[in-house]
Amino acid sequence: SSEPASVFSEGWLKRVYEEKPVKEVRSRFPPEPNGFLHIGHCKAIAVNFGFAKYHKGVCFLRYDDTNPAKEEEIYFTSILDVIKWLGFEPYQVTYSSDHFDRLYELAEKLIRKDGAYVCHCSREEVNRQRGGPDNRGPRYACEHRTRPIDESIAEFRAMRDGKYKPGEAYLRMKQSLTDPNEGNPQMWDLPAYRVVEKNHHHRTGDKWRIYPTYDFTHCLCDAFEEISHSMCTTEFQQSRVSYDWLLEQLDMKTPKSEEKGPMQREYGRLNVNGTILSKRRIQMLVEGTTVEKKTAEGDVDKKVIMPSVRGWDDPRLYTLVALRRRGIPAQALRKFVEELGVTDALTEIQTPRLESSIRKHLERTVPRQMLVLDPVKVVIEDMTAKDELDLTVPYDPKGSIPGERVVHLGKEVYIDRSDFREEDSPEYFRLAPNKPVGLYNVPFPIRATSFLKDENGKIIEIKAIRAPPEEKAKTYIHWVDVSTAIPVTARQYHSLFKTDSPNTLDWKNGGWADDLNPDSEVIFPNAVIEKGLKDLLKDHSLHPKGSSDDLVRFQALRVAYFCVDVVDSTDDKIVLNQIVSLREDKAK
Ligand code: ATP
Ligand code: MG
Ligand code: MG
Repeated sequence: SSEPASVFSEGWLKRVYEEKPVKEVRSRFPPEPNGFLHIGHCKAIAVNFGFAKYHKGVCFLRYDDTNPAKEEEIYFTSILDVIKWLGFEPYQVTYSSDHFDRLYELAEKLIRKDGAYVCHCSREEVNRQRGGPDNRGPRYACEHRTRPIDESIAEFRAMRDGKYKPGEAYLRMKQSLTDPNEGNPQMWDLPAYRVVEKNHHHRTGDKWRIYPTYDFTHCLCDAFEEISHSMCTTEFQQSRVSYDWLLEQLDMKTPKSEEKGPMQREYGRLNVNGTILSKRRIQMLVEGTTVEKKTAEGDVDKKVIMPSVRGWDDPRLYTLVALRRRGIPAQALRKFVEELGVTDALTEIQTPRLESSIRKHLERTVPRQMLVLDPVKVVIEDMTAKDELDLTVPYDPKGSIPGERVVHLGKEVYIDRSDFREEDSPEYFRLAPNKPVGLYNVPFPIRATSFLKDENGKIIEIKAIRAPPEEKAKTYIHWVDVSTAIPVTARQYHSLFKTDSPNTLDWKNGGWADDLNPDSEVIFPNAVIEKGLKDLLKDHSLHPKGSSDDLVRFQALRVAYFCVDVVDSTDDKIVLNQIVSLREDKAK
């Protein structure tokens, strides 16, 4: 066909399709609704939804809600939102809990086929049966493994009916625990059902006291939904055998064949270093934490660590809600993840690699604006009202982005404090007394003549005059007209940690807090932007709803790429988030 080559049309994903070349591809993305998705999940989304889309098939979003203690409504909503934001539409939204009745029936069926038994051993005892702490010792069965089938059925019902507390009874699959030749721990009689203490479920209420495990649930739900290709990450490689085993026991898959039933295949995870992705660790940043340490005298030393980010969507994090709020375009993120490729090998990247890819995308796609972060006023004293100009300026001097805006030039302009020096020197080319400097798009340079300071010695005003146009400026600086300026708050972001391998910090005893970068967020409360921002905002909502990617993004000349923050902006005060710097951020 004429389609360009993609990660789906060649390589690993092509082979996965060819192993089971069905007419209708059916895939699924099965998150546990126990947290916000992160950039790693973007790969899982791109692989599963993308694969189905490429083959004109369908992809389910299946919430794997088998752990009622950890699930919250907000995660369900947020997961669906970011999938849509990434440009995918689930064929159907399903829940493992939709199938609890059917799963229970199949568990009884499995017991009847002598494929499962109720076991009352302690966790420690089960570990010993499975060869001890390193799984290397001899393995053996407990007395429960050979109990009569009817007894297991009765005990399983007793589990269901509340006779047992957590840990007092499990349903275990009767796999190959006692086969000395079976080296795969996933085949050593895994639990299928457990009694759960905090058992109120958001969808099934108080109906169940027992919940199925991942190993029991996942393959069966895949089969119920007639999934053809079930792709997951390589930690599940060893689980493929138990996945097939259970389906075969229940006649839902042809043994040693991909003819009938779902096919599991495993791809390598995407790990992003230079940040943290673990839920527990992000939670410590979001909520703060208290660390307790025993002193030499035996006292307990309490160290309180305050929250260090604004929430799960703080633009410094790499959750998908954070990347979205920061202004990373969904399309660019997806493309980035696809271009990293999909194989069974782990992909490890550092955050600057993502930023560089996003920067390239923005360069070609967003308009330019002039934004002054730390403004100081320049009065061009020889300008009168009739010298004022309305300059028509293209959104992109290179012409990649269509359109133009009107930039007003009056007698007073703001420039950035860092673009002025009280004393000139030969190697300095921005504004200084008697040195001509260019203002972007203005047909003449200006020359500073004097300046005023407040009582603290801070410069509050610079006086300047126009220089003749033939006097060539060595440098152009950005500026904003005072009379039409829009005040904004700009937030710039840098790494959260001083180290670029924060996962190696001391996460147990709170040592990580000493490595937090105090300048990871720099706020400019008095920034000003050209009135053109209003034109950009006109066709957009300040607070796009749901899954929309309708953010206002621009390149602030000589500053960075920014977007309008959808959480904190109001009609009276716009808040800007830095998306990425213009160049790789070396300073930490
Ligand atoms: P984590 O292991 O990071 O805690 P999780 O178990 O919370 O992830 P799930 O909700 O189970 O995540 O994830 C849904 C799907 O996303 C799974 O198929 C899982 O393999 C995949 N996934 C999770 N993390 C990554 C990653 N870093 N790269 C690629 N896929 C991932
Ligand atoms: Mg998981
Ligand atoms: Mg997990």
